[in-house]
Amino acid sequence: MTDTDAAAPATPDWDVVIVGGGPAGLSAALNLVRARHRVLVVDGNRPRNAATLIAHGFLTRDGVPPHELRRLAREELAAYPDVEVLQRHTVSAVRRLDADAPDAAVGARFAVDLAGPGAAASVRTVSTRAVLAASGLRETLPALPSIRAYYGMSLFSCAACDGWELRDQPLALIGESDDLFARALLVSRWSSSVTVFTNGVATIDESDAAALAARGIRVDRRPIADLDGDRGTLSAVRLADGEVVPVTAGFVRPLWHPAVEYLDGLGLDTDGDGHLLTDGSGRTNAAGVYAAGDVAAPGPQQLIVAAGAGARVAAVITHDLLGVTTAH
Ligand SMILES: Cc1cc2nc3c(=O)[nH]c(=O)nc-3n(C[C@H](O)[C@H](O)[C@H](O)COP(=O)(O)OP(=O)(O)OC[C@H]3O[C@@H](n4cnc5c(N)ncnc54)[C@H](O)[C@@H]3O)c2cc1C
Repeated sequence: MTDTDAAAPATPDWDVVIVGGGPAGLSAALNLVRARHRVLVVDGNRPRNAATLIAHGFLTRDGVPPHELRRLAREELAAYPDVEVLQRHTVSAVRRLDADAPDAAVGARFAVDLAGPGAAASVRTVSTRAVLAASGLRETLPALPSIRAYYGMSLFSCAACDGWELRDQPLALIGESDDLFARALLVSRWSSSVTVFTNGVATIDESDAAALAARGIRVDRRPIADLDGDRGTLSAVRLADGEVVPVTAGFVRPLWHPAVEYLDGLGLDTDGDGHLLTDGSGRTNAAGVYAAGDVAAPGPQQLIVAAGAGARVAAVITHDLLGVTTAH
């Protein structure tokens, strides 16, 4: 059934439309369909960790390829009749069908525009009682010519995810944001040989630089020309003045852009970086609209954290659609 914007349908096509089929969205889908909701997952198939071959730290799946984790999750969902996963489909807009924003999710209705791959794909619209944003982040890396060749291979962004594999190596930490001091301290958990490269952009004041030096962490404020290495394995950071600093791996601090454009017009509250603000259980400020995973404040974390947030918000949605606040 296809809905129009003319009126809010009494029985929408779906109970919940989930935007994003990563660990947050798929975990929410599993728990929602098990609570007998009709669930549509729409996934653009561009996970944040697509650059890496191996994912770590997910209990029972340490070392799993990221695409395999998702495949296993979709296979589990396939055992349930009331869930559909549309891969390589993108949601372009979500609109409220009820004329006035309701106070409670129980009365909410939405129209969701989505399309398959390719410029020629036609947009179709489905209706739903609730929308879960599990659409993750896009990343911008520092503008170094070769950086993409190393990202996910020997250069990573999450120390908790990949620090163990890089332990005790001479490491670079490259970033242009002002949280490099804290990140450098974190990275020093895994190696006593760390050089922080600000690329002439990030600010690390003298007292922070002294605190880092006391731990053996060097700060290099010169602009970077490029990274050197072979087949994804980093061997050095080459500075604009010609000096080459040998390293064997490292971390980079990307800029993060939550993928939330399709929610424009719903008046959702965000933090300074655009992550959706929630009440801590996944409810946004708009009744019937929820968020889980990297797209929600405080921003990027880990696969198992995203999956946990998906499970938690699924329980909250189940309660909200009944109009009750019962705990588990
Ligand atoms: C290089 C790298 C390595 C990492 N390694 C690890 C690791 O080893 N261990 C670990 O725990 N974590 C790791 N992470 C972090 C981990 O990838 C994220 O925390 C996790 O993927 C977040 O899950 P998510 O479901 O919130 O978002 P994602 O997994 O990013 O999934 C979001 C999905 O939403 C889709 N989407 C976005 N917009 C739309 C739209 N409008 N319509 C439809 N679909 C849409 C995207 O295409 C994507 O498939 C790594 C991250 C990176 C960048």
